[in-house]
Amino acid sequence: MKTTKKILMITSETVPYAKTGGLADMVSALALKLRESGHDVRIVLPRYYDIDKTKLTKIEKPLGIPTGNGEKWTAVYTDLLQNSVPVYFIDHDGLYGRSGVYGPTGGESFPDNAERYNLLCRGAFQLCRLLEWFPDVMHCHDWSAGLIPLYLNTIEFNNEFSETASVFTIHNIGYQGIFSSDTTKLTGLLEQASMLHNDDMNFLKSAIDQSHIITTVSPTYAGEIQTSEFGEGLEGLLDYRKYDLFGILNGVDYSEWDPATDKFIKPLNYSVDKLENKSLLKEKLQKEAGLEVNSKKPLIGIVSRLADQKGFKELCEPFYGCLASLCRYIDLQFVILGTGEKWCEEELNRLDTTLPNLTAWTKFDNSKAHLIEAGSDFFLMPSRYEPCGLNQLYSLKYGTLPIVRRTGGLADTVRNYNQETGDGTGFTFDDLTPEAIYNVVGWAIWAWYNKREDILKMQQSAMNADFSWTDSLVKYDDIYEKALVKRRA
Ligand code: ADP
Repeated sequence: MKTTKKILMITSETVPYAKTGGLADMVSALALKLRESGHDVRIVLPRYYDIDKTKLTKIEKPLGIPTGNGEKWTAVYTDLLQNSVPVYFIDHDGLYGRSGVYGPTGGESFPDNAERYNLLCRGAFQLCRLLEWFPDVMHCHDWSAGLIPLYLNTIEFNNEFSETASVFTIHNIGYQGIFSSDTTKLTGLLEQASMLHNDDMNFLKSAIDQSHIITTVSPTYAGEIQTSEFGEGLEGLLDYRKYDLFGILNGVDYSEWDPATDKFIKPLNYSVDKLENKSLLKEKLQKEAGLEVNSKKPLIGIVSRLADQKGFKELCEPFYGCLASLCRYIDLQFVILGTGEKWCEEELNRLDTTLPNLTAWTKFDNSKAHLIEAGSDFFLMPSRYEPCGLNQLYSLKYGTLPIVRRTGGLADTVRNYNQETGDGTGFTFDDLTPEAIYNVVGWAIWAWYNKREDILKMQQSAMNADFSWTDSLVKYDDIYEKALVKRRA
């Protein structure tokens, strides 16, 4: 039987306030959907410098947050996400009063991140006390919320939180929050073994060790992270906890990402039975990108963090990657939007100036991301690993056929082209090598020029595929129940 629950989401990112990747989309979409289904969901995150506090409401009382190195006094701001979900922002000038989420740029970290996110974790409990609102479930997202389960099992065990369960979602095991072992002092806890891994403090390891239930964002990734190839050193612990580990696909927020209603492509919206505007959007994208305006040229889009995880070494590392060859030897166009590792930004900018059929925008730009999804013919994601991946889901909805490596959520959501039947929703490959990327892109472009009817059929199947939150919401409901049963036990 479904009961209404109080759920607090603890996160470092939430759209529209702070976003570096898919975590931000997921948290707000899931919160909104849970709220719609009747749960009392709230979100807490830091009030980063770039979140304009004049647009938020300040809560009268200040918040005292005890930490291992003394009490910190913070302000709390609040807002209502889409007039529905209360969001609370912990405001501390010393720790959050600077530009950037995890670091000054995409590829860097602030040296005091342990202190910044420990404050978020302890602050979440103090916030509940301030609000006199105690959740049934604390749903913690990624390493930055990773100390909550430990606090819940220790200093917050036998008090107002004595009936609160923890659910921890791994959005990306590649980011663990690893710091020197003496950083554990920040918590003020005597028992430190659960925080340590290979003699370092590790936020994510602590969360996997201590939370009632662990989830990750696709079924395939849930299996992968129990292996040494993908587990980043935590596979043993995950294997030990495998009966409490569940893979649930992220849904898409179709109120943001649907070509029929997308406000960023107005008035050229389109749908599966009315595709004409997609060609006009391709023209618009080619113009904006300074590419030859030619509807016959296949256009491949990429929107991504520029990180090793996303396959950029194989794509564009000098003297190794295949991107320049793809542009030189295959009749196609590329438009790439991304920020991240410095070498990669520099190389993409260099390729942009040397290749007439490639444009690289090394910036974060949501409206361009929407235009690329809508105006491209294909969308490339050669990820080394991909916990869920949202861009391929957006691409499917926009009839922009994804070309993806068969890993994690990409394996769960893209059906490979079958040349015999013309079925499929995209193109997939297995080995992450420049040659394999070159070959799969070559295959997709061959189909574009020679198998028009298959491409159109695949577009239809892709646009009709449903990756909304409906199924995943039921699964999260069930997870919260399971976590509460474990807490009571
Ligand atoms: P990850 O979370 O690993 O970065 P996802 O595919 O799950 O990858 O989600 C990435 C999200 O971030 C998508 O919503 C994508 O559109 C967005 N994004 C990434 N880079 C940029 C950028 N440079 N400009 C605009 N949006 C971006």
